[in-house]
Amino acid sequence: MKQKTIAIIGGGPAGLSAAEVLSASGHAVCVYDAMPTFARKFLLAGKSGLNITHSEDYQHFATRFGKANPRLRAALDAFTPTDIRAWAADLGTETFVGSSGRVFPNVMKASPLLRAWLARLEAHGVSFFTRHRWIGFADDGHVFETPDGRKTVACDATLLALGGASYPRLGSDAGWAPLLSERGIETAPFQPANCGFDVAWSDLFRDRFAGEPLKSVTATSSAGTFPGEFVISKHGIEGSLVYAHSAALRDDLLQHGSAVLEIDLAPGRALDRLSRDLARQDAKKSFSNRLRKGAGLDGVKAALLRELGSEADRNDPHELAATIKSLPIPLLRPRPIAEAISSAGGIAFSEIGETYMLKHLPGTFAAGEMLDWEAPTGGYLLTACFATGRAAAKGVEGWLSRR
Ligand SMILES: Cc1cc2nc3c(=O)[nH]c(=O)nc-3n(C[C@H](O)[C@H](O)[C@H](O)COP(=O)(O)OP(=O)(O)OC[C@H]3O[C@@H](n4cnc5c(N)ncnc54)[C@H](O)[C@@H]3O)c2cc1C
Repeated sequence: MKQKTIAIIGGGPAGLSAAEVLSASGHAVCVYDAMPTFARKFLLAGKSGLNITHSEDYQHFATRFGKANPRLRAALDAFTPTDIRAWAADLGTETFVGSSGRVFPNVMKASPLLRAWLARLEAHGVSFFTRHRWIGFADDGHVFETPDGRKTVACDATLLALGGASYPRLGSDAGWAPLLSERGIETAPFQPANCGFDVAWSDLFRDRFAGEPLKSVTATSSAGTFPGEFVISKHGIEGSLVYAHSAALRDDLLQHGSAVLEIDLAPGRALDRLSRDLARQDAKKSFSNRLRKGAGLDGVKAALLRELGSEADRNDPHELAATIKSLPIPLLRPRPIAEAISSAGGIAFSEIGETYMLKHLPGTFAAGEMLDWEAPTGGYLLTACFATGRAAAKGVEGWLSRR
């Protein structure tokens, strides 16, 4: 087959995964990115350890993508968590399984892996272009805004991997969405995913407790009940336990205008036992004293009960025990998408075929977070970006070979 030119637009994990597959096929591969360097979000993910995938049973793993499960399954099957660990090791980054089952590089950062990855792609002939902002389609290629002005490049096939809409300062600002809707491609509206929520804290509580973690609690929403920890923030609540519930809470807010996260502040203690222990406390003692002695709660946990509990809780040990086991935190709204770990929304799956080619734009493929799927934190996001990048690249390969 005559060598073809492939434009990959977007140099995050999905675009670079695609470049890896396509550079092995002997085509000329050019990766374009608007930012001065590649994969900035991937690098930022490395600041918190780079949770690259998850070690749980694969049958369970493959169900973490909600309504997109069936559409992502083939891509995930072709590049599983085991493959990701082998791939990282091949690039000199060994990984380990943390106590939660999440997988991290031994070095707990992204930069050595990214450096080795880019060097290998370059050695395989991939051409890289930074500061190239894609601003639209040309007759047989694309138009980019560059420091030297507008530039039009021709290509035989295109793979878009432009990311979602969270953390726009890192490059993925969803500026591509109007360019695709002009071409009749439907994108589901972007929404924050894995995000915090605003809560109407009193000034007193906010000033005293913003930044304090609540450890060893469980939280319940329509998503289920999970153990973990979260943080009181200036605006409300943040952290991994909140993110695990965030899709359900966001949807509740959208559909019903209200949402509540219920916290069990003492998950190790049964309700009746707690009730008895609190009832044994001297009613003349202060609330703090009764809480500490009867329930083992003080600090931010006690303050949260004071902030959100009722008058009845203070006077009735049985009411108090029930509130400790299920303290409702009423949420006002999700934090803005610019602060979210990821986004829901993007190109609807109805717009792409099994090979990740856009039905209305033959020869143009899409991968990564710009597609309409979401997943919790836990390494699922990066896994799906790697996997769809590779699957779309296979789609490009197949499409070019048939032409
Ligand atoms: C703080 C933080 C921590 C995270 N931690 C983890 C984690 O531990 N584990 C995990 O699985 N996931 C994590 N994620 C999510 C993960 O990083 C993303 O899901 C992933 O990077 C998305 O990959 P992508 O290639 O689809 O898009 P992106 O990584 O967003 O890359 C898209 C690229 O497209 C470029 N681009 C956008 N528009 C244009 C344009 N018009 N022209 C040219 N280029 C353009 C951008 O500059 C960018 O480089 C984290 C995210 C954040 C914000």
